[in-house]
Amino acid sequence: MNLAVLASGSSGNALAVQYRGQMLFFDAGLSGKQHLLRLESSGLPGADPIGLFLSHEHGDHSRAAGILARKWEIPVFGTEGTIQGSKLIGKKLHGIEYFSNGDTVQIGHFTVQPWTISHDARDPSGFTVTAGGRKLGIATDMGVFSPLVQTMLQGCHGLVFEFNHDIDMLWNGSYPWPLKQRIASGEGHLSNDAAAEALASIVHGELRFCVAAHLSEENNTAELALKTAEQVSEGRFRVLAGKPYQALPFFEV
Ligand SMILES: [Zn+2]
Ligand SMILES: [Zn+2]
Repeated sequence: MNLAVLASGSSGNALAVQYRGQMLFFDAGLSGKQHLLRLESSGLPGADPIGLFLSHEHGDHSRAAGILARKWEIPVFGTEGTIQGSKLIGKKLHGIEYFSNGDTVQIGHFTVQPWTISHDARDPSGFTVTAGGRKLGIATDMGVFSPLVQTMLQGCHGLVFEFNHDIDMLWNGSYPWPLKQRIASGEGHLSNDAAAEALASIVHGELRFCVAAHLSEENNTAELALKTAEQVSEGRFRVLAGKPYQALPFFEV
């Protein structure tokens, strides 16, 4: 199974997962044109797109869902809250597939498990994706690293994990007070320190990489996030930072 991180950050999020000629998309925060360009620049081997999963309705994850679904002629998967919040009902699509957090969704070669995350959205989801005996965890937009998330991320070979902000940069930064409180709340985003502590609790010998994801452009730097993640990895697995305006070269899970 291969992963391409097409965009990561508060300006837009999009992932593509590919295995044996099939491809799944996770989140749709990029325009149709950017999505295609970045798929190409990631080097991800070509494959048939078969579905788009949405984690929640916030614009940086859902704004291009209708466009991507029509362009690739694929169904959109989400919780009822996410689909409603993304204003997709009544739009011309190629099918809506509802799931509940806690379900197991079988699609093509992939098994996708959505689970609840704590975030200020209607019914948001984190995901684990399994194919060919490899397991990828996708967990961003979380105010807290709950015991459920910890359980679901056991045994992953690759992680896309939120390192949203540096706590000092957030509190000393220019954001208005209510926004600072929202980000730091239990339904906001994980700080670098919280993410590192969480990561330390799920590290195991088969973990190959962790993408530090959803970095705040105002309240974090790739250097800080990576430095914090490297304190956990100690060279045992690869850490890299997702980028908002550029795809990362794809890698094997
Ligand atoms: Zn987000
Ligand atoms: Zn969000």
